Amino acid sequence: MWNGIRWDKLREECGVFGIFNKDDHDVARMTYYALYALQHRGQESAGMAVNDNGTILYHKDMGLVPDVFNEIILNHLKGKMAIGHVRYSTTGDNTRENSQPMVIKYRNGQLALGHNGNLVNASELREKLEEAGAIFQSTNDSEVILNLISRYSLISESIEEAIQKMMQDVRGSYSIVLLTPDKLIGMRDPLGIRPLCIGLLGNSYVLASESCALDAVGAKFIRDVDPGEIVIISDDGLNSIRSDVKEESRLCIFEFIYFARPDSFLDGASVYQARIEAGRRLAMEHPVESDLVIGAPDSGITAAIGYSMESGIPYGQGLIKNRYVGRTFIQPTQAQRETGVRIKLNVMKNAIEGKRLVIIDDSIVRGTTTKRIVQALKEAGAKEVHMRVSSPPMKYPCYFGVDIPSSKQLVASISSVEEVRKLIGADSLAYLSLEGLLSTPVGARCGFCSACFSGEYPMEVPREGSKNLMDRKRQAKI
Ligand code: SF4
Repeated sequence: MWNGIRWDKLREECGVFGIFNKDDHDVARMTYYALYALQHRGQESAGMAVNDNGTILYHKDMGLVPDVFNEIILNHLKGKMAIGHVRYSTTGDNTRENSQPMVIKYRNGQLALGHNGNLVNASELREKLEEAGAIFQSTNDSEVILNLISRYSLISESIEEAIQKMMQDVRGSYSIVLLTPDKLIGMRDPLGIRPLCIGLLGNSYVLASESCALDAVGAKFIRDVDPGEIVIISDDGLNSIRSDVKEESRLCIFEFIYFARPDSFLDGASVYQARIEAGRRLAMEHPVESDLVIGAPDSGITAAIGYSMESGIPYGQGLIKNRYVGRTFIQPTQAQRETGVRIKLNVMKNAIEGKRLVIIDDSIVRGTTTKRIVQALKEAGAKEVHMRVSSPPMKYPCYFGVDIPSSKQLVASISSVEEVRKLIGADSLAYLSLEGLLSTPVGARCGFCSACFSGEYPMEVPREGSKNLMDRKRQAKI
């Protein structure tokens, strides 16, 4: 990810991991490695909780995984099970209180929870809980989930029953890892909007947002958690409670376009293959005479390779990203933005001079950075710059955990394709069709949410500008 380089790009959501040790693994270290592999899903905060004979120890803070943990902290976090979380805030402020895992006491001990996703009825539920006397420590919707589980445990026979009751109340997207006094539990919302998979490391089960985290700890992929499924991992092994919801699942298609790592598999489909396929289809749908195909680093690279494969136009590097510009890079003022772009991204003048270029990116959000890139390529001597986007025009906000701005800030929502072309200064502009996009996750065993392109949300969502928690946050940022 660009870590602030692309200020008009989408922001990631969160990543979760969990391990129940039945061998001699150091669970804190395993979680640390897995969080490293999931860092692309969230860079604002990181945390982990371990269960040491029913007592939950945890550490979390703002920053990247290597900034938050060190040897001393990891050595302190000893236990039989662990969960970890990396966060980008889509609901709740970017503060330590909102970082995860969230840990609470309940009737049978402690619970720790890590959540990826976003509830669309969090405000409503929170208000009801507050009226009933609940006190919240944070402003994020994950605490609402934890609170509901805790409350339902008072009238349930088991934690599993409390979770099922919670799942009947909440609407939205969630892939969750939960530590109880004696279990590691994973669950996925009934539409499976966010990914979650199961792996095996020796005799120890692990759960992770993406299969790349299983690879990082040396675990073997077993299967994805099914939409609506609750998996319970304990000394008795892995048990499952499946939802009887019969709706078609709706995995977020943006996981394939941008969020997930290319080396991950989600619900049976390779992210890398989907991006190659998106490039291929883009070339079929929108061919253009040119000399070189380049990708916008890093998000457009794989699709650019696919475009080149299909069109026969050579692929080359035209833009170089400075990989050492991290979060601490002082954001340039508006007046210094050009300098900022050059520091973070440079054009390979000798590779593109005098050439007709096709540049591929995964999406255009506000259009500001795309405009700068096109301008930089032309200034460096490109004869023509043809922009091709490996997803359809993004016109609608996301309510399921991705920080897509309000429609007013989405350039494709307020402008025609020709107007966007003029704005970014390209010689031509074309997007992949929705039909084309939905066919790219080859072998996927799921349906997809594509609401940010089509406006067809898989459930009732709050109107833009409503007082939903997520919207409050978004309005605060605008
Ligand atoms: Fe993903 Fe878009 Fe659906 Fe949000 S609206 S879950 S980003 S496909």
